[in-house]
Amino acid sequence: MLKLEDSYIHKGKRRVLIDTLRKKGITDERVLTAMNTLPRHFFFDSALVSHAYEDKAFPIGEGQTISQPYTVAFQTSLLSIQPGDKVLEIGTGSGYQAGILYLMGAKVYSIEYNAKLYEQTKTFLPKISIRIKHLHGDGSLGVPEHAPYDKIIVTAGAPVVPKSLLHQLSIGGVLVIPVGNRQNQQMMRLTKQTEKNILQESFDGFSFVPLLGDEGWRVP
Ligand code: SAM
Repeated sequence: MLKLEDSYIHKGKRRVLIDTLRKKGITDERVLTAMNTLPRHFFFDSALVSHAYEDKAFPIGEGQTISQPYTVAFQTSLLSIQPGDKVLEIGTGSGYQAGILYLMGAKVYSIEYNAKLYEQTKTFLPKISIRIKHLHGDGSLGVPEHAPYDKIIVTAGAPVVPKSLLHQLSIGGVLVIPVGNRQNQQMMRLTKQTEKNILQESFDGFSFVPLLGDEGWRVP
């Protein structure tokens, strides 16, 4: 079993990773501080732990991945998280992204489709004092019972923007979601200015595992 130790070597590697993110254009200091605080190696299997501070996605089991740090930083920056924001994350995976949102002061609801990952993360996050609401099910439909949300982040690639997610955003709320084919997606930021007026922005060059489910990809 992996020991939850955060040595000066890990801290040093983390600082180098943060410098890399800055060089790649991440400027939100609150995002960088959270990523410098949360030990990414805690979220890795012992076989891969030596790679935890590379700016790459890695397998977490069940055919899923922990996102690349640059992608986590980019998506989180697009959300402009304010302390107290009610945030829904679709795709808990390892729990790393949820941990970053929590450390930034958000009230986090996170839903995971895969039962094994859901159970693992629900057990693990409290051990490192990350307190979020864990949910299990098809997040392509959102989580209407806790809506509306100030921010929604989707960490799997969708074929289209799920209507349910737009419905569950508050006015002024922001949805960040990768949309495209199964290999490549654009990162979209949708800001719900009024019930009918949605501002759309997009950014190129991302590659996520597929968002499954009723408003995602139907076949794994
Ligand atoms: N945010 C994660 C992290 O910090 O480790 C990385 C997420 S991984 C790239 C995508 C995750 O989305 C996988 O764990 C996958 O099982 C999950 N997923 C796919 N479709 C989903 C759905 N409809 N609802 C909820 N989770 C889903």
